[in-house]
Amino acid sequence: MAECFLPTDEEILNATSVLVRACHGRAWNAGWYHDPATGEVIERNMGEIFALIHSEISEALEGHRKDLMDDKLPHRKMVPVELFDAAIRIFDTIGMYYPDDIPALLEKMLYNDQRADHKPENRLKVGGKKF
Ligand SMILES: [Mg+2]
Repeated sequence: MAECFLPTDEEILNATSVLVRACHGRAWNAGWYHDPATGEVIERNMGEIFALIHSEISEALEGHRKDLMDDKLPHRKMVPVELFDAAIRIFDTIGMYYPDDIPALLEKMLYNDQRADHKPENRLKVGGKKF
């Protein structure tokens, strides 16, 4: 199996920071963290935020199940657009509530790289992860 070219750790950290700022900055500027009547900052409900992220994944599932084109970007398949909607919400949430944890994406990738249960030879064993 040919290796896929990977970005450097520094590139991953920089890209994560850019995506978090791009997603959270847009959400902030669009007013999603302010009361539209008073302009006061509101504390959003984390359960609601997780449900909204999940709703984007559900939309991707529906797009896959019906092989649909996206309704907002009709030149695109629905699956990637909805997966990116989920990513936008996730990066926004990290930017608002967990900005100090931006390096966690790279840290989790590096951790996953070392996981025995992610190694192809272990995935072939009885009880190994098939997908
Ligand atoms: Mg959506």
